[in-house]
Amino acid sequence: MLKGKSALITGSTSGIGAAIARALAGAGANVTLNGFGEKGEIEALRAGIAKEHKVEVAYSPADMTRPDEIAAMIAEAEKRFGALDVLVNNAGIQHVAPVEEFSVEKWNAVIAINLSSAFHATRAAVPGMKARKWGRIINIASAHGLVASVQKAAYVASKHGVIGLTKVVALEAANTGITCNAICPGWVLTPLVEQQIVARAAASHKTIDEEKLALLSEKQPMHAFTKPDSIGGLAVFLCSDAAATITGASLPIDGGWTAT
Ligand code: NAD
Repeated sequence: MLKGKSALITGSTSGIGAAIARALAGAGANVTLNGFGEKGEIEALRAGIAKEHKVEVAYSPADMTRPDEIAAMIAEAEKRFGALDVLVNNAGIQHVAPVEEFSVEKWNAVIAINLSSAFHATRAAVPGMKARKWGRIINIASAHGLVASVQKAAYVASKHGVIGLTKVVALEAANTGITCNAICPGWVLTPLVEQQIVARAAASHKTIDEEKLALLSEKQPMHAFTKPDSIGGLAVFLCSDAAATITGASLPIDGGWTAT
């Protein structure tokens, strides 16, 4: 379905982003990976996806706090593959603290990586998509783009912001062949959530498994983590012809979290 097209996924050296990269490569797209990590592990991921799906896979070390590096990453993907057709704004970090104790540095980092990077990447990618009359922009927001939780001021603000950005880009791009949507996952067992579970277990002296269930049951009617591959599947669907008129949407994949 995406054969001959090129996709770039920010924050794809781990978790949800890596699963989306695999899913888009599985649908035939050439892929640009991005994110931090150990050099050898990133190269193994890059080469593994290329071999398994017989597509070209590039890697950009661009830092999502740096607008200049983001613009250069998009330009490089367009140069290497002749186009950038699918942009997935996925890079994200979490920081947990009550608002009066929330460090200014952490606030700025969360907003830069979770929200502003999506603006910088979208701004750089839209002209090429408009020129080719086709594009898919997929923003990985969160259930926290739709509802709030305590101690997550920056994260919740950033994800609500991502949903606002998604709607504006969708309106501006209507009738250009470009769609822009947000995916809103509930709990997905990735390093971002594992570190929260470890911190909870340290504070409560409960086991990791007990804290996993506590985390799920506090928020989700369905006591199951969403699999990263399922988010990859939803991203592929949003690139399909069947999804051509889905735009400006915020799609929960959250075990019923936001239905309550
Ligand atoms: P993760 O920690 O496994 O992966 C985060 C990725 O972002 C990594 O590749 C990391 O290297 C990259 N990254 C971090 N800072 C960066 C920077 N400055 N520049 C470039 N890359 C950077 O996390 P994840 O759970 O896979 O999260 C991916 C996205 O999904 C995030 O936006 C997160 O908010 C969102 N999300 C996650 C969950 C969940 O339960 N895990 C739920 C809802 C939404």
